[in-house]
Amino acid sequence: MAIRFDGRVAIVTGAGNGLGRAHALGLASRGAKVVVNDFGGARDGTGGSLTPAEAVVEEIRKAGGTAMADGADVSKFGQVTAMVERATREWGSVDLLCANAGILRDKSFGKMDVADFAKVLDVHLVGTFYCCKAVWEGMRERNYGRIVLTTSSSGLFGNFGQANYGAAKAGMVGLMNVLAEEGRKNNIRVNTISPTAATRMTEELLPPQALALMKPEAITPAVEYLLSEDAPTRTIMGAGAGSFAVIKIIETEGI
Ligand code: ADP
Repeated sequence: MAIRFDGRVAIVTGAGNGLGRAHALGLASRGAKVVVNDFGGARDGTGGSLTPAEAVVEEIRKAGGTAMADGADVSKFGQVTAMVERATREWGSVDLLCANAGILRDKSFGKMDVADFAKVLDVHLVGTFYCCKAVWEGMRERNYGRIVLTTSSSGLFGNFGQANYGAAKAGMVGLMNVLAEEGRKNNIRVNTISPTAATRMTEELLPPQALALMKPEAITPAVEYLLSEDAPTRTIMGAGAGSFAVIKIIETEGI
């Protein structure tokens, strides 16, 4: 049966572009009310045009869905809690979280300074901690939560120039492993997805022929599965265009 999210409220971070945008559109098309988060401002700087998050909300509304834009910077805990409070006030709960916001500061390790390292950890790892933290108590109280963290093969196997990004993404897998266990008894399921898709993050890394095949939308069904009622927990899923593979599923007794 097709996955539906009617009555569910989702937050997708970094949803102004790329993967996050595709996931927000997908979840909304399946009935979720979606908080489209992105801290990015209007690109042309005129002040008159929509932010990327607002533009995605427009797309969702035109397609008949329900969404609100939120400009929280995920690396600022106060902004993240305000976003969750706003969603809860408007729509009653936050049931689904897709932590997808991210930045790159690639440099060979010899050239990478402490600020390059700390900044990337701040957005990906600390920011993901903040998002999970902000939704956690509500999910526990309601005995329902589905969380998916966007990680990367860089965090599992490493990539040149990505000591910061790889460390952050590996840290997110570590966070998922613990949250999956601690959430188990409250029906909170936590997973990671490690996507390969054509986004601003990968356009300089992959050849054009490969990028043409790797639309972000191709990853969305795997994310929808990991946010569904029947989601597994504690899975590291690798997803490329047109296919996805479970790299590792760890099932242990709840603690
Ligand atoms: P990908 O689609 O591969 O995740 P993108 O660069 O296309 O890569 O999208 C990442 C999104 O995350 C961007 O739209 C960016 O504005 C957003 N983002 C980056 N840092 C933050 C942050 N601190 N808070 C909220 N959104 C962020």
